[in-house]
Amino acid sequence: MAKHTVTLIPGDGIGPELTTAMTRVVDATGVDITWEVADAGEHVMAEYGTPLPEHVLESVRRNKVAIKGPITTPVGTGFRSVNVAIRKELDLYACLRPAFSIAGNGARYDNIDLVIVRENTEDLYAGIEFEQGSEGARKLIEFAAAEGAGVMRPDSGISLKPISITGTERIVRFAFDYAIANGREKVTAVHKANILKHSDGLFLKVARRVAEEYKDSGIVFEDYIVDATCMQLVLHPEWWDVLVLPNLYGDIVSDLCAGLIGGLGIAPGANIGAEYAVFEPVHGSAPKYAGKDVANPTAEILSAVLMLNHLGERDAAARILAAVRAVIGEGECVTYDIKRSVTGSTDGSVATQAYADALIERL
Ligand code: NAP
Repeated sequence: MAKHTVTLIPGDGIGPELTTAMTRVVDATGVDITWEVADAGEHVMAEYGTPLPEHVLESVRRNKVAIKGPITTPVGTGFRSVNVAIRKELDLYACLRPAFSIAGNGARYDNIDLVIVRENTEDLYAGIEFEQGSEGARKLIEFAAAEGAGVMRPDSGISLKPISITGTERIVRFAFDYAIANGREKVTAVHKANILKHSDGLFLKVARRVAEEYKDSGIVFEDYIVDATCMQLVLHPEWWDVLVLPNLYGDIVSDLCAGLIGGLGIAPGANIGAEYAVFEPVHGSAPKYAGKDVANPTAEILSAVLMLNHLGERDAAARILAAVRAVIGEGECVTYDIKRSVTGSTDGSVATQAYADALIERL
């Protein structure tokens, strides 16, 4: 029996080619993993009647650990995000997105080493929405007016932003525990409490209370308004350490941080709950590149590095990270996005699997 069994969700768009590159690199370390493939997304709907079949969730529940490729979400209409559904179904409340500089990738900065901790289950992502013109929207508009909460135009569509004490306590604790376990020095709570007094205001109040519990830990706590955070991230990315944010700001700020370190092609992520963990890159399915063997698998591979650390396979994780740094640093065998950042042209870039070959050779 293999030492680890991991659920592998290839996803769609560029997902299958990236997860192929990732499993090839992980297997090349010699770490003993059986990949249990369980597919989700629009392409499984005809067979199962849903983009997220129950056996996919059962596989993750059984194995406790999964790694996935991106999955497309139709815009405006169609099914709700499979990615969001997986996080909700498995209560993966913490989304961890490290952003660190990799020399030679053409990024604007070379001094970034920060971690986004995004709350994953509530806020505007809770999916509580009322369609414009629906009975629910009409009632809510009437209710808000009757309560004196405010006036919404009668032709409004409405999305709610719930933020709870429970959800905030556990994500802020997660951020502090992560900071302590990983030798970090500072946790910054990011919010818009000056305007959103009952959602972000509560987030900030609870974050301050939880920070008090950790006051002897040596970890510095501060808070920052989200718009100012964005500006300071661009001006002084080296200031930041661990940032803890409500769901939507976490989503947006982590893409900003991906841009600071050189692009979505190299930004890894993890969704972690009390029982299960699902690893996935920050980026989406980039449909225009699907099947072309050009997308950068580094984000997927660095997500596997996070997974290997989670599984206690620290040596394999460190070797893959060193191989990524070496191959990108040399600049010979890099995918189109990195070549474009470094030289302004994609000429001389290599294919997804050829880059994986270079990493394997380096390992
Ligand atoms: P995206 O797929 O992340 O792609 C946006 C752009 O980022 C690409 O056009 C490409 O830039 C760059 N990029 C992304 N991944 C890359 C990679 N591996 N290598 C190199 N460059 C990469 O964002 P999107 O187009 O907004 O979303 C497409 C679909 O993915 C949507 O249906 C969305 O809902 C879904 N999505 C899924 C997840 C998930 O599964 N967790 C996350 C986000 C979005 P250039 O055009 O400059 O080359």
